[in-house]
Amino acid sequence: MDHDRILRRLLDLVYPQACRVCDQRVSQGPPLCAACRNRLPANERGCPLCAQPDTGSGPICGACQRHPPAFDGVYAPWHYTAPIDEWIRQFKYSDQISLARLLTDLTGADLAPKLGVRESRRLVGEHVVSANDLIEGVKPEDTIFVSHRKFDIWTEGKKNIEAYPDVKHHGIPYRSLLPRELNGLIVVGKAISGTHIAMSAYRTQGILAFVGEAGGVAASLCAKRQTSPRNLAPAELINTLSEPPHSVEIDAYKD
Ligand SMILES: [Zn+2]
Ligand SMILES: [Zn+2]
Repeated sequence: MDHDRILRRLLDLVYPQACRVCDQRVSQGPPLCAACRNRLPANERGCPLCAQPDTGSGPICGACQRHPPAFDGVYAPWHYTAPIDEWIRQFKYSDQISLARLLTDLTGADLAPKLGVRESRRLVGEHVVSANDLIEGVKPEDTIFVSHRKFDIWTEGKKNIEAYPDVKHHGIPYRSLLPRELNGLIVVGKAISGTHIAMSAYRTQGILAFVGEAGGVAASLCAKRQTSPRNLAPAELINTLSEPPHSVEIDAYKD
């Protein structure tokens, strides 16, 4: 058991938690008992596009049918009524910071699986990271991060990695963050420019955190130098990163 969990157990013993609704003692987790949690005003029939609670007779609300929004969807797990509205007000305006844990649990537990999409749209960038780059261990000069995670391709909920060869230490180049046909934009996360197969190897958080840092640092350098992302000198970006790219090699992701 790690120190945080031991400390939390001790605090629970000394200062037992009470349910925010019924005051019953709650032994672990957020301060809400199971019965009260089940009675929370869940937005079960919300419009999948705009999250409005009442969709009428159809699956999508009338407003979205008349004017489909430009985005794919909004997720609102709860109705903004008691006790949720009161908790949000207390958290925002009455310094009840302890409510953060409860509100995080209430939103995060439902939201996380919805966000955990392994693959979606990707950029076509100045460089498209390919499976061959990974197999051959290509490390371009503008490498912002060196990775060594194996291919991890899923099809229809089932892993399918046996057919793919091993990955060598390879570089993610700065150019894969830059759209080929658009100036003034830096793209980070899983949307960087790479093929379906290559992306399966670099899409994990440990790697994308470094890609995100590189994108943020590049944006700040562009602002300082009054230049565009495409004209930024990769060497300056690489020298400004908190970890020199070639010294950070992720080997640990062998799940
Ligand atoms: Zn309760
Ligand atoms: Zn709607």
